[in-house]
Amino acid sequence: MTDSRFAPNAKMEPYWWEAAPRPVLPEPKLPGRTDVVVVGCGYTGVSASLTLAREGREVVTFDAEHAGWGCSTRNGGQIGTKLRLGLGDLSAKYGKDRAAAMVKEVTNARNYIEDLIKREALDCQWSVCGRFVGAHRPGDYDGLAADMPVYKRECGIDADMIPRSEQHAQIGTDAYYGGLLVHNNASLHPGQFHAEMLDRAIKAGVKIAIHCPVSKVEKDGNEFVVTHARGTIRAKNVIMATNGYTDGVAPDLRRRLIPIGSYVMATEELPVDLMKRLMPKMRVISDTRRVVYYYRASPDGRRFVFGGRVAASETDPAISGPLLHDVLSGIFPEVKDAKISHSWMGFVAYTFDSLPHIGVHDGIHYAMGYCGSGAHMAPYLGHKIALKVLGREQDARTAYDGLEFQTRPFYSGAPWFLGAAVMYYNFLDRLPSGSGRRP
Ligand SMILES: Cc1cc2nc3c(=O)[nH]c(=O)nc-3n(C[C@H](O)[C@H](O)[C@H](O)COP(=O)(O)OP(=O)(O)OC[C@H]3O[C@@H](n4cnc5c(N)ncnc54)[C@H](O)[C@@H]3O)c2cc1C
Repeated sequence: MTDSRFAPNAKMEPYWWEAAPRPVLPEPKLPGRTDVVVVGCGYTGVSASLTLAREGREVVTFDAEHAGWGCSTRNGGQIGTKLRLGLGDLSAKYGKDRAAAMVKEVTNARNYIEDLIKREALDCQWSVCGRFVGAHRPGDYDGLAADMPVYKRECGIDADMIPRSEQHAQIGTDAYYGGLLVHNNASLHPGQFHAEMLDRAIKAGVKIAIHCPVSKVEKDGNEFVVTHARGTIRAKNVIMATNGYTDGVAPDLRRRLIPIGSYVMATEELPVDLMKRLMPKMRVISDTRRVVYYYRASPDGRRFVFGGRVAASETDPAISGPLLHDVLSGIFPEVKDAKISHSWMGFVAYTFDSLPHIGVHDGIHYAMGYCGSGAHMAPYLGHKIALKVLGREQDARTAYDGLEFQTRPFYSGAPWFLGAAVMYYNFLDRLPSGSGRRP
């Protein structure tokens, strides 16, 4: 690496792959016919596959790359309880009750994975560490304080305001004007979580075909014919679980998704005393910016894992790493000399209404568009879409059912408008005051 902030042996791949190396899977003998084909082997796909296999269905799950190659082993491992849109905006569009149900569904997702982790004994460093949302402008603290009781009352989100004078008990910085502490937010090791889910799916009988892109899904009578890199397979049902990596195999879904790069870097190990002072409660952290920074300590408490969006256009981890390092050093000047050990990125999928989507399109089931909050929403909606395939309509119900999955005229899936949008939101974030982001 040319930038001196990189450690000499820095890697341009996720830090999580150290403790969860990319799985080596045997090449399965693929049948000519199966009950369900799942396209995509991230959290959505593997969760759907596990649920179906446990219900006795034959499942073949494909990934174009290795299992978990997409966001599911690249994310920050932060488990939240909010949606991209605030409760006020949601209420204006969908009415108060549905808006509250949509937000509560995120807590349902959080609770679902907590139960799953316990039930299946998934070894993934689950920790109910709480989240500190830092107010990056004085006015944002007031915005958070005004919203907090509403979220408590309407959505059951347990949170407390932390004034700036008490901030150091949560986080060792003066960069924020106080903030919000959301108690039941959590963290996990994203790579280990995926590896453990994959293990349970394989043990349940799911056949996983990796490095095997699916190129076509066609309807043929009551079945689908799925063309993949090694041949074709017939299936009663198909689940599209490709999220921010949705390609030409599902053009109609692709034009409803906005893939956006999110960038992360990890520092080398830092002194234990310093980390204890800067991250005394090991909370997950985000802030009130529209272009949010999200970060945490690594599960062993020894390094920072720091993420966000540092450039208007998509860029290279060799470039984003030092830029993220600059922001981290602005928050914690004590770490300005810490070297970057890993830098990476992945594509999250936003949607035009900023909501997750689950349903059936042209007979193909899908769950996607988690807007950057899929570490818990993806396994949860993956489970729900499997229940829909099983015909268990009552159990499969979600607050996002029946939403129109919007697109825009002439949009095919390449977000030409992204750079301008990021610059505009960065401009808004720099204005002296504004309403706070929602907890
Ligand atoms: C840097 C980063 C940080 C994040 N941080 C957080 C966080 O802290 N908390 C949180 O809640 N969420 C976070 N997210 C979002 C979260 O990781 C995702 O929403 C979630 O992992 C989506 O899971 P998925 O299974 O739907 O998609 P993915 O994990 O992206 O998997 C999709 C898979 O589909 C495969 N695929 C695509 N097309 C084909 C094809 N034609 N044939 C076969 N396979 C195909 C791809 O190879 C890929 O492996 C973050 C995301 C990123 C990138």
